[in-house]
Amino acid sequence: RKYVYLFEEGNASMRDLLGGKGAGLAEMTNLGLPVPPGFTITTEACNEYSATGRFPDGLEEQIRDALKVLEEKTGKTFGGLENPLLVSVRSGAKVSMPGMMDTVLNLGLNDRTVRALSGVTGDERFALDCYRRFIQMFGDIVLHVDFNGFESILEKHKKQHRARYDHELKPEHLKEIIKEYKNLIREKVREEFPQDPFEQLNRAVRAVFESWNNPRAQVYRKVNRIPDDLGTAVNVQTMVFGNMGDNSGTGVAFTRDPATGESTLYGEYLVNAQGEDVVAGIRTPHPIARLQEEMPGAYEQFQKTCSLLEKHYRDMQDIEFTIEKGKLYILQTRSAKRTAAAAVKVAVDMVKEGLISKEEAVMRVEPAQLNQVLHKRLDPRAEIRVIATGLPASPGAACGAVVFDADEAERRGNEGEKVILVRLETTPDDIHGVVAAQGVLTSRGGMTSHAAVVARGMGKPCVCGCEALSIDYREKRMTVGDLVIGEGDLITIDGSTGKVIMGAVPLISPELGEELRLLLRWADEIRKLGVLANADTPDDARRARDFGAEGIGLCRTEHMFMSQDRLPIVQRMILARSAEERGEALAKLLPVQQEDFYGILKAMDGLPVIIRLLDPPLHEFLPKVEELAVEVNTLKLSGGASEEIAAKEELLKKARSLQEFNPMLGHRGCRLAVTTPEIYAMQVRAIVQAAVQLKKEGYNPVAEIMIPLVMSPKELEIMRGLCMEVIRQVEEETGVRLEIPIGTMIELPRACLLADEIGKHADFFSFGTNDLTQTTFGFSRDDAEGKFIPQYIEKKILPDNPFAVLDRDGVGKLVKMGVELGRGANPKLVVGICGEHGGDPDSIEFCHLAGLDYVSCSPFRVPVARLAAAQAQV
Ligand code: ADP
Ligand code: MG
Ligand code: MG
Repeated sequence: RKYVYLFEEGNASMRDLLGGKGAGLAEMTNLGLPVPPGFTITTEACNEYSATGRFPDGLEEQIRDALKVLEEKTGKTFGGLENPLLVSVRSGAKVSMPGMMDTVLNLGLNDRTVRALSGVTGDERFALDCYRRFIQMFGDIVLHVDFNGFESILEKHKKQHRARYDHELKPEHLKEIIKEYKNLIREKVREEFPQDPFEQLNRAVRAVFESWNNPRAQVYRKVNRIPDDLGTAVNVQTMVFGNMGDNSGTGVAFTRDPATGESTLYGEYLVNAQGEDVVAGIRTPHPIARLQEEMPGAYEQFQKTCSLLEKHYRDMQDIEFTIEKGKLYILQTRSAKRTAAAAVKVAVDMVKEGLISKEEAVMRVEPAQLNQVLHKRLDPRAEIRVIATGLPASPGAACGAVVFDADEAERRGNEGEKVILVRLETTPDDIHGVVAAQGVLTSRGGMTSHAAVVARGMGKPCVCGCEALSIDYREKRMTVGDLVIGEGDLITIDGSTGKVIMGAVPLISPELGEELRLLLRWADEIRKLGVLANADTPDDARRARDFGAEGIGLCRTEHMFMSQDRLPIVQRMILARSAEERGEALAKLLPVQQEDFYGILKAMDGLPVIIRLLDPPLHEFLPKVEELAVEVNTLKLSGGASEEIAAKEELLKKARSLQEFNPMLGHRGCRLAVTTPEIYAMQVRAIVQAAVQLKKEGYNPVAEIMIPLVMSPKELEIMRGLCMEVIRQVEEETGVRLEIPIGTMIELPRACLLADEIGKHADFFSFGTNDLTQTTFGFSRDDAEGKFIPQYIEKKILPDNPFAVLDRDGVGKLVKMGVELGRGANPKLVVGICGEHGGDPDSIEFCHLAGLDYVSCSPFRVPVARLAAAQAQV
């Protein structure tokens, strides 16, 4: 079996086998770009290694053969004492996992080859610098000696020799450092630093294989939903050197601005540096534009390469390069991670540039990412006190309590506290803290530092390189001038401007930008699935409409009963001892309900508004039994007025009689109207009268009535009769004719099973997948989500939380059955979904596949749904 591919043997389509980095290096090699020669060990080799713990048969020979080819190409010899070949050993999985796995540079150096390198380059400092770096990386990654141990030795010597930067260390200093590094290794792992280059290579490859399963890579995969069984490829590549003096350097650049999408080269580089110096945030790098002055030739070539790669891949690229004595080498290219705002702008721009089609543009933006464009911003009216300004590394504003450590961030975050993770710089080991935080603030590192990249990837606000902050982990505080900010103090960061602000600044919700509107219009042209919104108030309705909702798929009426002025009337209605008393209370509710519906129908003029009649059990409108009991007792003990006591006691008695063991399965939904039809009758009257009123005013109200929690055709038949009667009455009274469809929510398994019978009485079905998920699984959501679903996911019993991502296997099957049976009975039946799943891209795809007519979701998810619906179509 072939486990090793020379770069020239691969291409961009071989990501599964060669990993993203390997496939990119191969593609670039074949494009004729200046890529140092190398080869890739396949992900299959990694997976076999993971399974058996040893190299698969033949791998070692294939590596040796490939090395021979490198030797021929470069004229250098691996382990050679004249002109030694050095290589990097670079991890690279199918999907990029920035900073998660390991890379070793300058491999092949030992006590003898380092002298040869110094001889052949005539630069002893350089050779020793490489060796020092190699021992450190090898020690860290392969031998698992704590990185900080090496760093403190280095720092100690830098201080001692007054070297501000690594490259200011003299050869004799480097020699001392190397000696101490070796001692450290001997002390920690009780072995000598390995001198045999082949042993070095073997062990480095193994370490990269093993890094696939290191804890931070596992967390990263979990967060980003990357499968665990992909494995990583290993790239072995001839070293080129950015640390050979002032005409050398190393850097990373994006072909466009990854925060805004603007079409300008964007990146950073460091002169006389190697490898990860740029991202590690050790020295503050220069912006790429400065390269034009410092090394014009290399800059021009780099610029050309960038535009070539962008055209070739037809996407924005993230490119790593090194300049060795003025000569440019390209070390990596990949499709760039970007903020949602940048993704939208790049996609739209590339259509305008003729690079991609509208369909492709629509596919280029991750729907879930769109939530980010809808970034929170600082309320411009708020007075703010800026305490420092760093780099605007990931847009959006966030506020929270300052926390200096990832574990603490996670702990507080899990308790629901909002925190801002503040670090000197972040490393991959902090990732769980970033996950838990609202935003990230660092005092070191540039726009491509770890914190910045990770935060952008997660769509979290980040300010980095805020050097004015001096952070003290031990004392758990940071200071700016005289100001001391301790753990738990509230701050606000604005990742769009880099501002760090004292206290919690009010944040405001976002609007759709022009480019996003355009992209979504293209999505609308493509998609077949309708997108409606769940909205209960005229304000929500307007927002939904502005975000592109084509109507309201679920207008709940219960909150309309909850407000302070209405609750007493509702309670009187519940406590009524006679039909008359109830009638009086309902008569008072009628005009206010009518006003509610008037507002919403007007806001959605011309678009459908599906109004669901009252759903929750009536006891939700009464105080809790325990509270009432306490109140009654207190009144009695304090000698309260007897009338008051009697009233409370009556309330208590009623509350007791309405108490339910399992309210979710209790006396709710249309069951309320089976026993007390007057409530629904009042609501229907309010809807119809509001519509009539609007019609008379020249509007075009499109009201629809939805009956909740139906489980039998007979139920719906009765409800339909009830509604029709009221509609007819109002029509007669007003002389206005209305077309008001009547449909039902499908949220019980029995309704799906009997959908053919139920469909005969319905103009539409709307799958209420929240309840349908509860009743299909037999899970009470409130008990399940926090308590055991996480474990179900952990143990792989469930792939996802079924309340967030529609369960295609079970609930989905019922939905499909309901659609088929319902349409069979009534071909004109309109079918949609109005659970929270309506805003989840994966569930939206399912709805498209199941042939639904529309999804309905919360107003903020409408743009997401429009995009996801289009993607399902493409
Ligand atoms: P990551 O996946 O973390 O970006 P890489 O494998 O890309 O890791 O390596 C990190 C950096 O190491 C590269 O950006 C580059 O600067 C440096 N590097 C890797 N291979 C070489 C090489 N053959 N010559 C010079 N520098 C290299
Ligand atoms: Mg790395
Ligand atoms: Mg890289």
